[in-house]
Amino acid sequence: MVASSLLPLLDMTRTLGQPDNDYVIIGEGNTSARIDEQSFWVKASGQQMHNISESGFVAVRFEPILDMLDKSPGDLAAQKAIMNAAKVDPSVTVTPSVEVTFHAMLLHECEVKYVGHTHAVYVNQILCSARARDFALNRMFPDEAVLCGPESVFVPYIDPGLPLALAIRDGVWRYMDSWGEAPKVILMANHGVITLGQSPTEVLNVMAMCVKAARTFAGAAAIGGPVFMSPEDVRHIYKRPDEIYRRKQFVEKRES
Ligand SMILES: [Zn+2]
Repeated sequence: MVASSLLPLLDMTRTLGQPDNDYVIIGEGNTSARIDEQSFWVKASGQQMHNISESGFVAVRFEPILDMLDKSPGDLAAQKAIMNAAKVDPSVTVTPSVEVTFHAMLLHECEVKYVGHTHAVYVNQILCSARARDFALNRMFPDEAVLCGPESVFVPYIDPGLPLALAIRDGVWRYMDSWGEAPKVILMANHGVITLGQSPTEVLNVMAMCVKAARTFAGAAAIGGPVFMSPEDVRHIYKRPDEIYRRKQFVEKRES
């Protein structure tokens, strides 16, 4: 029987992995979900998302992983040993994704319940271009601001694993200082996108809107360049009570 805390994550992961979405291929991408204060589920290394089963996830304790961010254990072998020792059930043979560090950090720092990470083609064609930062820090249309937040956290390319988790944490802290709340989207140059949510639906909705924004950006770039909303308009739409109400509905429902 699938653990009840795992079912929503299993479903979210398979949905993100649907080939039609063009979000991931082969073993790309990973997801996580909080179990309780002490532990969380994370996709195991090398699993495919679209047909993942219960055995494709591993329950991991927060504490040893979060400790690595404050005190690096040294080389990759030492880090991997800690990741494996952090498994709730040591008899489980699969190993946590190499990105377990940023999952633990984001669930903890942003106080969200679900994290989704993909290499969505439409987003990556911009993140692998000279305009990646431009895309991350601006908004083109109201629903992009409402769903994806007033801006995204932008992280320049850095080695995956612990260095990436530390760079994302710096970006998240800066964002929280500016906006007084956690971000919805993290964009990693030459790598991919992370969306955060209190429910699987929120992670899926924000991912879908980020991809739509990326397609819009690319189209606009081809015909003279995107025209961004002004910072005042972005702030206004993000704080409007009716938009806050709509945003709350999006957490539970997939359609507006
Ligand atoms: Zn990745």
